[in-house]
Amino acid sequence: MPVIEVEHLHKRYGDKIAVDDVSFTVEQGEIFGVLGPNGAGKTTTVECVQGLRRADGGTVRVLGLDPIRDRAEVRQRVGAQLQESQLPDKLRVREALDLYRSFYRQRADIDELLADLGLTDQRNTAFHKLSGGQKQRLSVALALVGRPEIAILDELTTGLDPQGRRDTWDLVERIRDRGVTVLLVTHFMEEAERLCDRLAIIDTGRVVAIDTPSGLLSRVGTEHRVHFRALDAVDDALLAALPGVTGVRRTGDEITVTGPEEVLQTLLATLAEQKVRYAGLRVEQPTLDDAFVSLTGRAARTTTSPSTDERPS
Ligand code: ATP
Repeated sequence: MPVIEVEHLHKRYGDKIAVDDVSFTVEQGEIFGVLGPNGAGKTTTVECVQGLRRADGGTVRVLGLDPIRDRAEVRQRVGAQLQESQLPDKLRVREALDLYRSFYRQRADIDELLADLGLTDQRNTAFHKLSGGQKQRLSVALALVGRPEIAILDELTTGLDPQGRRDTWDLVERIRDRGVTVLLVTHFMEEAERLCDRLAIIDTGRVVAIDTPSGLLSRVGTEHRVHFRALDAVDDALLAALPGVTGVRRTGDEITVTGPEEVLQTLLATLAEQKVRYAGLRVEQPTLDDAFVSLTGRAARTTTSPSTDERPS
């Protein structure tokens, strides 16, 4: 039985339709991603799953329960991250964990949790003295302190540096390895690709596709792009005639050859044979960004790195 079932969810704020028609199911033990650009309706969807908002249409079941009617039971069994700065400044890490732990029937071992999240040295640090990454890790710890069956993590790496993001991704994998089902909201393509077993791409309140990351990628084809600079003369026609090559393009002194994955090997063999030296070789594979563009027919407003993470105010 799926642990989360969302069917034809519809939610409005006044005249504004935040979630038009969203359906998906999450199986026990998977990391399921809800991916989409800002304003797509991701947070509203998971807030309905948590019982924080009442749907205007459709049904939501979590562990077989109704998140509104059975809110108290759902809260016991589903851990959710706090939005930032929902803790008093002076509260220390260990105190926050002790307090939240007291709300639950099932209680995690706090020392173990602190060690797992790399917060042991900060256990006596006040909330306002924590770095952004430490605050994020504390919010994940608070989501896990009641030993939940499902953890809902919303934009958990926004604002983290690349190392912080990678550490957090490892942590999410460890959470899943303990048997916790993870519902992960993100607008980072790279994060979804790296972590999710399956994901729903949501755009303007509707599900555009639900698949594994590789399933989504296969929908956009397997075309690779090989870029390089030739240090000796090379005939474009010769490259274009190689088996599988679908295009050869020059931009300045860079040559781009497109074709299936095998094209790289054929190309390198030909360059060696023709004694053409090259530099700056790089291969681009299809990404979830390409999948998003192909599925929605327009450019992704999602981002691949926090440095380009311009969130509307
Ligand atoms: P983001 O990645 O920016 O958090 P999201 O995909 O999570 O976006 P939601 O936060 O669910 O999207 O918002 C969906 C739409 O509903 C947006 O247009 C948003 O402006 C609107 N919205 C969200 N919360 C409210 C609210 N409390 N009142 C009115 N409109 C809202």
